[in-house]
Amino acid sequence: MSKTMAINAGSSSLKWKLYAMPEEEVLASGIVERIGLDNALFSIDYNDGESVERTADISNHEVAVEMLLKELIDLSILNSFDEITGVGHRVAAGGESFSDSAVVTDEVLKEIERLGELAPLHNPANAMGIRAFKKILPDITSVAVFDTSFHQTMDKVNYLYSIPMEYYEKHNARKYGYHGTSHKYVSQRASEMLGKPLEDLKIVSCHLGNGASLCAIEGGKSVDTSMGFTPLAGLTMGTRSGDIDVSLLPFLMEKEGIADINEMIDILNKQSGLKGLSGISSDMRDLHEQAAENEQAAVALRIFENRVIKYIGAYAATMNGVDAVIFTAGIGENDIQTRQNIIEGISFLGAQIDNEKNDCRGKERVISTDGSKVAVLLVPTDEEVMIARDIERLS
Ligand code: ADP
Repeated sequence: MSKTMAINAGSSSLKWKLYAMPEEEVLASGIVERIGLDNALFSIDYNDGESVERTADISNHEVAVEMLLKELIDLSILNSFDEITGVGHRVAAGGESFSDSAVVTDEVLKEIERLGELAPLHNPANAMGIRAFKKILPDITSVAVFDTSFHQTMDKVNYLYSIPMEYYEKHNARKYGYHGTSHKYVSQRASEMLGKPLEDLKIVSCHLGNGASLCAIEGGKSVDTSMGFTPLAGLTMGTRSGDIDVSLLPFLMEKEGIADINEMIDILNKQSGLKGLSGISSDMRDLHEQAAENEQAAVALRIFENRVIKYIGAYAATMNGVDAVIFTAGIGENDIQTRQNIIEGISFLGAQIDNEKNDCRGKERVISTDGSKVAVLLVPTDEEVMIARDIERLS
């Protein structure tokens, strides 16, 4: 048995899971939040129900990693650091450099940092997590798993924007997509659940969380996806606008007296989507609660569903067919009403929801009727286990 860690490092947080492999058993998991701020929060869940929670001064990621590893020893979850055979890190942007996960060498780490120009909020934080573990566990294999690499199979026809070709040639200005690890995981599970090889399936995977994207998957490969150069494009999300006509930007900037384009982009990333439309919340639960009395909340919900329905239709056309639609992530796994409305919106494809089977949250199951021409599946995503598997595969 080997023990591996899957890491998701943000600018002020570090989420982790410790696995026994190849059993894929979660031995412990936890999160360190508010790194670098006063009273950082440190929590660990282990032994099926036991937990440790406290606040501490954690000035940077290195201190967080040190504390976390020491705690694993103190709680006897590990006997020594030597038991850890590999550490895998989620990295947002791999650009065109990484079409698969990669063992982290000095060059790979430099490239991850360079690709911060594609994901300025994420890659530098991801690299910080990698450096922290490398410093404390220098001899242990470190693997980077990119949100973009699953989408590197997209054809030019789907990843190029219709802008002067030289912008792609000179600057790699193109669609990259995100959530790749999640789309890959749920499509593999769907194939297993349906008992059909991935090679024979045309799938639309709907990762509907606070960040949301759809992916068209044919023969196990990403053909198209709704996020773009950055995660701002595509669907209406919690706080992101999704697709808009970019000519709106200079118009709004002039009307609203916004001088800096970055400020405008910030509004599209943080003040738009469900939050901006409803004026209430970015959280679907709040909107459902208020939809009966509040027109704006009701409209935001309808717009969310409408964009998902449109993209499913577009991807069914892109693949010239669709065998399965998968729902995953916070909304996809838990929002019964939204799943029902979306599937009713694509009944023209022969998709039919079974309301009894759909009446559940967070459970892996087929939720379409036996007679449905398109299988509809609920598959809780598991990006961490994909990271653990990649550590095994690459170490
Ligand atoms: P993130 O992109 O931050 O990882 P998640 O996948 O955790 O997001 O999804 C978070 C979203 O899931 C919340 O914004 C909320 O709208 C939605 N959600 C969670 N539980 C429910 C529920 N029971 N009903 C409807 N929506 C839910």
